[in-house]
Amino acid sequence: MAGLYIHIPYCTKLCYYCDFHFSLNLKTKAAYISALCTEITLQKEQFTNEVINTIYFGGGTPSVLSAAEINTILTAIYKNYSIADNPEITLECNPDDMSKEYCRAVQSCGINRLSIGIQSFHDEELRILNRRHSGEEAINSVHAALESGFSNITIDLMYGIPNQTMDTWKKNLSVVAKLPVNHLSAYALMLEEKTALHTLVKRGRIYIPEDALTVSQFEYLMQWAPKHGFEQYEISNFARNKQYSHHNSNYWNGIPYLGFGAGAHSYLNNTRFWNISHNAKYIEALSKNTIPQEIEHLSTQDRYNEYIMTRLRTMQGVDKTYIRTAFPEAYFRTFTAQMEKLMEEKLVSEYNSHIRLTQKGIMLSDSIIRTLFKI
Ligand code: SF4
Repeated sequence: MAGLYIHIPYCTKLCYYCDFHFSLNLKTKAAYISALCTEITLQKEQFTNEVINTIYFGGGTPSVLSAAEINTILTAIYKNYSIADNPEITLECNPDDMSKEYCRAVQSCGINRLSIGIQSFHDEELRILNRRHSGEEAINSVHAALESGFSNITIDLMYGIPNQTMDTWKKNLSVVAKLPVNHLSAYALMLEEKTALHTLVKRGRIYIPEDALTVSQFEYLMQWAPKHGFEQYEISNFARNKQYSHHNSNYWNGIPYLGFGAGAHSYLNNTRFWNISHNAKYIEALSKNTIPQEIEHLSTQDRYNEYIMTRLRTMQGVDKTYIRTAFPEAYFRTFTAQMEKLMEEKLVSEYNSHIRLTQKGIMLSDSIIRTLFKI
């Protein structure tokens, strides 16, 4: 099995915290889609023996695409790749793009999962983030998706938002509890350099909440989730009724994927490669049938670090047998000694030869993962 990722680097408004690759100039969209289709064709040799079980439109804002444009891209994919019978095909959407007509139209193209970037239901928090939608539009978007026939709906929320209190975070989660969504991704807001939010914070116009509040919000989320049918199957991801994201699970399980579009990353055969993060240069290169790419061959140490970093974040955990068989003996010896120490501190536990973070360990996951890295 393998996955495909399609990057749609266009947005209609700048979210203040955003450091992703995107452009607010939609004039090049048609040329970009044409370039994407060329890249999809050029890369097909990479996956001659793979069956694709997930396709993911990420961004940017993929819901700036019309159904006809999505159809064009999916047609190019189906023409060039072998696709599983029931692939998971996800479209990331902004709530205010999601009329019932739009949802029905994208569904008829083959999209069967919607990932809605809500972030908060609280209008003041949305204003601080400079999001396009209101809390009410966010709720309406989920109902529009459901009434259009989507049963596989995930939403994104953020905590650690400036001016967010424990009370408004609890209110956000109480809205989620009543919504017909089967998946939730919740991330702490990261203050990235070169973002508008970073500038506002530096100028003293906005204050980032204390770490202690963000930690308490995450703790509350972990206690809230099981009470409302959500299983925390990865540190930031929660599923109802085992409706895990197959696409993300593929990433965490080291399954190969190809990424198409400006700034998109690919991974296969222990190699990572990524396209230039510049729409005009990407379009220009593809018009000459070349892919503007950089490549990195992963060393044993890189592969080990990546395995630890991704798998320890999942509830599946790190497979000891895999560490013993896939890496040199010295790696396994070091890993075993480190795990004994973490077990004494009750930060990890072992189940069926898999090492998993405990609730206490989850709270310290970043520092634990850092100490386990081979450098
Ligand atoms: S919609 Fe997403 S990619 Fe676009 S500016 Fe907002 S956070 Fe960034």
